[in-house]
Amino acid sequence: MADCIFCKIVSGEIPSQMVYQDDAVVAFKDVNPQAPVHILIIPRQHIPSLMDLDEASAAVVSHIIVVAKNLAQQFGVAESGFRIVSNCGADAGQSVDHIHFHLLGGRSLQWPPG
Ligand code: IMP
Repeated sequence: MADCIFCKIVSGEIPSQMVYQDDAVVAFKDVNPQAPVHILIIPRQHIPSLMDLDEASAAVVSHIIVVAKNLAQQFGVAESGFRIVSNCGADAGQSVDHIHFHLLGGRSLQWPPG
């Protein structure tokens, strides 16, 4: 999608600190990290939010979870613990309308989130 910042990261038009990519997803460091480990995992395909998933397109989400688990291991937070979050809509604070999953770890995370 032409004006989507994450589509531009996928295409390489906007630089990112890419930590993983395959045919379906890319993962890169969040530009404004909220934890020592803060990685965004996104599908290459432009899907605005969780609300736009159907049975077929949701298959990428299970792949993203496995990628997140592997990255948690790679970045050393698998043992201490980590969180995977996808904000959906205004009240949740979604600021980029290209579905993405935050992988957060490396510090003690609070619950409930603010
Ligand atoms: P959201 O608020 O859940 O939609 O998360 C969007 C995330 O994207 C925020 O944590 C931002 O810091 C992050 N972000 C926005 N632009 C960029 C970028 O160009 N590179 C990396 N992360 C970004």
